[in-house]
Amino acid sequence: MRFACLGSGSEGNALVVETGDTRVLLDCGFSVRETTLRLGRLGLTPGDLDAILVTHEHSDHIGGVARLASKFDLAVWTSYGTYAFLSNLDQVPADCHLFDSHGAFAIGDLSIHPFPVPHDAREPAQFVFSDGSRRLGVLTDTGCSTPHIQAMLSGCDALVLECNHDAEMLANGPYPVSLKRRVAGNYGHLDNAAAADLLKAIDSSRLQHIIAAHLSRKNNLPSLAQGALAQVLGCDPDWIGIAEQATGFDWREIG
Ligand SMILES: [Zn+2]
Ligand SMILES: [Zn+2]
Repeated sequence: MRFACLGSGSEGNALVVETGDTRVLLDCGFSVRETTLRLGRLGLTPGDLDAILVTHEHSDHIGGVARLASKFDLAVWTSYGTYAFLSNLDQVPADCHLFDSHGAFAIGDLSIHPFPVPHDAREPAQFVFSDGSRRLGVLTDTGCSTPHIQAMLSGCDALVLECNHDAEMLANGPYPVSLKRRVAGNYGHLDNAAAADLLKAIDSSRLQHIIAAHLSRKNNLPSLAQGALAQVLGCDPDWIGIAEQATGFDWREIG
């Protein structure tokens, strides 16, 4: 199993997970043109994808899903809440499948286990992907951690973990007070310290990769996220990957 990122942050998100001949795109917050360009950097075309999986309806995750799906005939998987949101707008993709936020399902050779997260959307979910022997956990867009999130992410072989902001930078930063409250709230985004606490609480002994994701450009620095996570793992801060807004990150193989 391997994975790569097309871009991460409030201006657009998309991650590819691949095992054998199965390739799933997790979220698509980019235009068709931009998505095609970014997939090209990874040696892929949209036609190589089997499905698009959606975490929630915020535009940095869903903005490009409908167009990409209709142009390339891709199946789309959403939670009931995300489906209800799309249905209200009359934007349900032609080939739309629903998943239960607590129930595992399969797309090709990839086993996918969603879990609900506290975030200000209808029914936001995040995921653990497995090829049967290795597990990749993805967690972004969560206001806080929960015992269930920790149980899901414990013992993963690779993690993509939200480090949205540094609490002090957010407090002293340029956002209006209402937005600061939203981001820092229990239904907003995970800060560096909360991500580090989550990492401390789970079994991280199998981790081959850990990537800090969904970093705020205005309220965080890669070095702060890397420092917070490296302190928990007792590793070199450079070992912590960063999912960049412009470039995501290149393929990572889980051996
Ligand atoms: Zn987001
Ligand atoms: Zn969101």
